[in-house]
Amino acid sequence: LPEIALAGRSNVGKSSFINKLIQRKSLARTSSKPGKTQTLNFYKINGKYYFVDVPGYGYAKVSKKEREKWGVMMEEYFDTRTTLKACVLITDLRHEPTKDDVQMYNFLKYYELPVIVIATKLDKVAKGKRPIHLKQTTQTLQVESDDIVVPFSAETGEGKEDAWRFIRQYIN
Ligand code: GDP
Repeated sequence: LPEIALAGRSNVGKSSFINKLIQRKSLARTSSKPGKTQTLNFYKINGKYYFVDVPGYGYAKVSKKEREKWGVMMEEYFDTRTTLKACVLITDLRHEPTKDDVQMYNFLKYYELPVIVIATKLDKVAKGKRPIHLKQTTQTLQVESDDIVVPFSAETGEGKEDAWRFIRQYIN
């Protein structure tokens, strides 16, 4: 079955995104704790495809050994999965993408994976400021022209239809 990976900095709002998307409260735990075992979690959706939850990155406190383990696991997965069709990268629309976000985007492009950037917490950004925040996200990540940035809010559900539209392209 096709797989869509979901990546994002710890606490960025990834669980909230998945839960809003599939209208469930309990599929993804919110806020995984730092230092806990880093594994990929596979969620089968409607028997048709998998969402693959990639453990959050960017913990300042994580040890070098933890980081290396994470890197090895990531490379193994992204190197070998022919069923992996695209990756959703969650960023926080309120802030400029961090160095870790940029690194993750580049990592995904190294594997030539289509990336759907979900810029979440849209509800926290004033309407008039949204365009400039979106532009900043696009520019800082240097989002390629084949990729897309979707403003999204897990609070209001804004952007949900767009998110689905782009994800669906890769699972049919
Ligand atoms: P994760 O660690 O990336 O899975 O992050 P969570 O989904 O647990 O979200 C982290 C925090 O951000 C929680 O307090 C959420 O309620 C909050 N959050 C997530 N998405 C949104 C959003 O779209 N809008 C607002 N206002 N808060 C959000």
